[in-house]
Amino acid sequence: MGKHLVLIGGGHAHMVTLAKLHTFIEKGHRVTVIGPSDHHYYSGMGPGMLGKTYTPADIRFRTRHVVEKQGGTFICDKATKIIAAEKQVVLASGEKVGYDIISFNAGSYVPRLDLAEDAQDVYSVKPIERLMEAQARILALAARKKITIGILGGGPSSAEVAGNIWQLTQNAQGHRPAIKIFAGKRFMSRFPGKVSAKIKRILTQRGVAINTDGYVQSVQSGAVTLASGATHNLDFIFLAMGVKPNPIFRNSDLATGPDGGLRVNECLQSVDHPEMFGGGDCIYFEKQPLDKVGVYAVRQNPVLYHNLMAALEDTPLQPFDPGGDYLLIFNLGGDSGVLRKRWLLMDGKLAFKVKDYIDRKFMKEFQAIE
Ligand SMILES: Cc1cc2nc3c(=O)[nH]c(=O)nc-3n(C[C@H](O)[C@H](O)[C@H](O)COP(=O)(O)OP(=O)(O)OC[C@H]3O[C@@H](n4cnc5c(N)ncnc54)[C@H](O)[C@@H]3O)c2cc1C
Repeated sequence: MGKHLVLIGGGHAHMVTLAKLHTFIEKGHRVTVIGPSDHHYYSGMGPGMLGKTYTPADIRFRTRHVVEKQGGTFICDKATKIIAAEKQVVLASGEKVGYDIISFNAGSYVPRLDLAEDAQDVYSVKPIERLMEAQARILALAARKKITIGILGGGPSSAEVAGNIWQLTQNAQGHRPAIKIFAGKRFMSRFPGKVSAKIKRILTQRGVAINTDGYVQSVQSGAVTLASGATHNLDFIFLAMGVKPNPIFRNSDLATGPDGGLRVNECLQSVDHPEMFGGGDCIYFEKQPLDKVGVYAVRQNPVLYHNLMAALEDTPLQPFDPGGDYLLIFNLGGDSGVLRKRWLLMDGKLAFKVKDYIDRKFMKEFQAIE
């Protein structure tokens, strides 16, 4: 008898499952996909969209369309809680949806510190779709006066956002803003010194200031205060301090990793609920904690698809092998990037061209099914 497969989030690890959704239906199963938007945005191209290299249409997948076209059901809502004992997922609207097999690819979020919900001109780097709103607001403010933009966090998304705000405002009418990164104690601290030095050089040549005087302790509308007590006035603030897995699991009393991600075994299956699977930023891969990068979510696709079908059809599961070192390319705006893979380190236009080629190819492959 057919079973009910529920997918929470149409993120990067569900791409193959979504593209082959019809194969579940052809075997007599029902598929429901739940997500807060009809589209999913590809984060690797998010900073490029902020800088106007890409349009929103270039970097998004039509999730609802792809699901409905293949005979699935799409519910535009957010999962908030799982009642594992009843095999039910609770949505923000209050609706409950039952499942036989469920898979999570609900991503991560940037913690908002103690910020008031109505704080003015404070944006997170995620969700990616909000970068469009941030872009419009920066252009409107910069058209009126010289503004100072602060980016909190010293990692890759902070560097990419800084470079792409520079690109955005270079090409726009109005005043050039001052751009300041608040990087804590060290900029790009997870990366080898040569990588951070190259990125730092490119950004500082463009006038981006990188503050390493310590961590930001509090954020107010219009200012940040560091642990030292020093206050910096800012007209616009970006939060880019690193991400945490979607809070659904902690809200649901499920086994999680130390970061709150769904704790999964090597088959991407929950360690205490065999009917639950997951991929991407929202899981904690017990065998080997993984960096929160899209590369792993993309690599998990075929295994997740195979295992969801196997769980529905009672056939053997496959283990996921995270693979070795991965290619990293940072888009720093102005058509320039920094590329790193093992011993290879390269910067400039070619590095950006390689990233642009890979990202566009990925988009084309999955947009083709639309
Ligand atoms: C600015 C920026 C640039 C980045 N650039 C790169 C890069 O170049 N290369 C790289 O490898 N990584 C990059 N990363 C990291 C990358 O974004 C993540 O590792 C990647 O997005 C993880 O994919 P995911 O599918 O798990 O999550 P997401 O891409 O966040 O997708 C999650 C999906 O779930 C949906 N969702 C969220 N909450 C719920 C809910 N409650 N219920 C249902 N659905 C929900 C969302 O709408 C979204 O569609 C970047 C991150 C940022 C912030």
